[in-house]
Amino acid sequence: MKILVVNAGSSSIKYQVIDMTDESVLAVGLVDRVGIPGSTLKHEPAGKEAVVIKQDLPDHTAGMELVLEVLVNPEYGVVKSMDEIGAVGHRTVHGGEAFAQSVVIDDEVKKVIRDCIDIAPLHNPPNLMGIEACQKLMPNVKHVGVFDTAFHQTMEPANYMYALPYEVYEEYRVRRYGFHGTSHYYVSHRAADMLGKKFEDCKIITLHLGNGASMAAIKDGKVVDTSMGFTPLEGLVMGTRSGDIDPGIVFYLMDKLGMNPAEANNYFNKKSGLLGLSGVSNDMRDIEEAANNGNARAQIALEVYYNHVKGYIGNYFAKLNGCDCIVFTAGVGENGIDIRRHICEDLDALGIKMDVEKNKVRGKEVDVATEDSRVRIFVIPTNEELVIARDTYRLAK
Ligand code: AMP
Repeated sequence: MKILVVNAGSSSIKYQVIDMTDESVLAVGLVDRVGIPGSTLKHEPAGKEAVVIKQDLPDHTAGMELVLEVLVNPEYGVVKSMDEIGAVGHRTVHGGEAFAQSVVIDDEVKKVIRDCIDIAPLHNPPNLMGIEACQKLMPNVKHVGVFDTAFHQTMEPANYMYALPYEVYEEYRVRRYGFHGTSHYYVSHRAADMLGKKFEDCKIITLHLGNGASMAAIKDGKVVDTSMGFTPLEGLVMGTRSGDIDPGIVFYLMDKLGMNPAEANNYFNKKSGLLGLSGVSNDMRDIEEAANNGNARAQIALEVYYNHVKGYIGNYFAKLNGCDCIVFTAGVGENGIDIRRHICEDLDALGIKMDVEKNKVRGKEVDVATEDSRVRIFVIPTNEELVIARDTYRLAK
């Protein structure tokens, strides 16, 4: 069976076609600027030249129509007809407390995704648009929702409850949910394989360091804790998000800068983090370059970034009572050689010792700890699409 994996954002649609007989990727693609003049589709069939199509696409349905056309194109398509696609897996950000697993999408599931719009206003609406566009164009196959929040639903109340009046949990479901769950799930399972142990027997700390960043502490096959919370704003310093700050700052700056709640939301989500601190960029490569060229703000931004990550490693070490491995993944985690080195510096008290020569790798599965390190340090490229395809295949069979 071939599976179409769809990740619909507000103005983009990412897709992959995966052949489940050998889990090979037949094509990857990206539709950009959906609903904005100048839309483009970039389609990369395996072993063939990439194709770029420029065509205005007013909405997600138009975007998906073009994707389906491209997939069956006799020249650069990857299937003879859409009948070869057995099911569609949809990356869905927020499933609230309803889904600890992936599910076949029906009206009831769509209602839950819709109900979660209130707490995921940026992500769930485009995810839903992607689902509805695909259902319209492919009504005869199963559509499966794979939720970013699902893996973290294994957390216990001690780690997902905030010390706020209990009624706000009952009334508004204010609690920690965590995100990037599919990535933490994938890399922690790969880490268990690399350790040669059963997943349920491992203690693992995963570091998903991308433009958005989060960490997770995993034990007994469950998430003990994760750094993102009610929203993806909590936790580590990110490209444009502040991560953990004193909540008192929010009220203070709303007053001083005359911001309403929507403006404050934008300020802490879009103007803070590495970008706000450095004044240079939200992109880690730019920050590193500026810091190497002597830019003091970029240097501070990096130090604050390392500090947050180190703080969470210590936090999770305590919560797990030690760990077997830490895992670096996502754009910065997979490629940021110096970033990984700085994070692991002076952690030998925790039994974390990096081999700086082995660490000079990018985007490969590798153990970069010294022989005598008590804790293994893995670099593992994430593969959320594969998790989505596997779950979709399992539920569609
Ligand atoms: P992601 O959100 O997972 O796509 O990750 C994007 C982030 O990865 C950006 O901040 C990039 O600057 C960062 N990144 C990509 N390549 C490198 C690299 N070679 N060194 C450091 N950071 C990198």
